Amino acid sequence: MNIYLDIDGVIMANDKRVSMYSHEFVDHLVNKYPVYWLTTHCKGDASYTINHLKMFFNSETIKLFEKIKPTNWDILKTDAIDFSQPFLWFDDDLFTEEKQILRQHGCFDSWVQIDLGKDENQLKKYLTT
Ligand SMILES: [Mg+2]
Repeated sequence: MNIYLDIDGVIMANDKRVSMYSHEFVDHLVNKYPVYWLTTHCKGDASYTINHLKMFFNSETIKLFEKIKPTNWDILKTDAIDFSQPFLWFDDDLFTEEKQILRQHGCFDSWVQIDLGKDENQLKKYLTT
């Protein structure tokens, strides 16, 4: 199973603060699954993504981030998803078109909606995923 991971609203709670359990969450995922960035902070080059994250995370967490592979997409994040493989996509907010594409592929349930406003500890739920 592939994992697609957003940054803002998922491992970052807002533009200044990292999410609760973000280290444990990413540690678990990168050790169990192939993980791909799916974020506006990655357009084909993960070193750009890492440089951005270095402003917020310590070196132990950055080491985990270095195991995450880049994706490239233009307007819709779904362009970067490999629909031939099962996947989970952790994201706080999808475009209507992205939701439609998931439905067309019969995998709307692969989207794990993160809402840290509702539960700031939500990432803890996925430490056994
Ligand atoms: Mg987001």
